[in-house]
Amino acid sequence: MQKIIWVDLDEVLAEFVDYALVHHDYKIYWKTVKREDIVNYYIHKMVEYDLDAKQAMERFRTAMLEDKDKLEVLPVTWAIEWLKKLKDKGYILKIVTARVSDLFWEYTQKWIDKHYPNIFEEIVFANHSLAKEDKPKSELCKEHWIFHMIEDNPDYALDLAENGILTYLLEKPWNKLRPETHENLIKVKSWDEVNF
Ligand SMILES: [Mg+2]
Repeated sequence: MQKIIWVDLDEVLAEFVDYALVHHDYKIYWKTVKREDIVNYYIHKMVEYDLDAKQAMERFRTAMLEDKDKLEVLPVTWAIEWLKKLKDKGYILKIVTARVSDLFWEYTQKWIDKHYPNIFEEIVFANHSLAKEDKPKSELCKEHWIFHMIEDNPDYALDLAENGILTYLLEKPWNKLRPETHENLIKVKSWDEVNF
């Protein structure tokens, strides 16, 4: 049986945070914010920025909408090279994303075709509309018989690991201070250490 690896999209394949920071001129209201300052994946939980979850989401959404016809969000360094190696080893590669498909299906497909042509067999959208509750990725993995995943969200990664899914966590400012460990969780600095 061929093994499938699920690969998260934002910050694992696409440097979307960098793009969003430029889009907002490195500012949240009057405060300057750099990539390294974002030490919590849920930026609305960082009291210094005074955003609620809805406002934080809206900031990301407007940045993503700006890239719809440009496709200028950059791919993550080394990702394509290492994905090709995994493909050569016989793995089937699929993307799983929390992006809302109603809003971003076409954009996401075009961006992937431009930056990762002929790599992925499928893009799985965890959320179809804004109205629906997020389903944990661990639950989705179980439904799809997935046991290998690459993530940047420390909470998702830990939940996946605890549910028996071997998970690589790529180091980012928003996860590098997290102390949790698990036998199924492999923390790496960058793509060139991903080695299923
Ligand atoms: Mg991500």
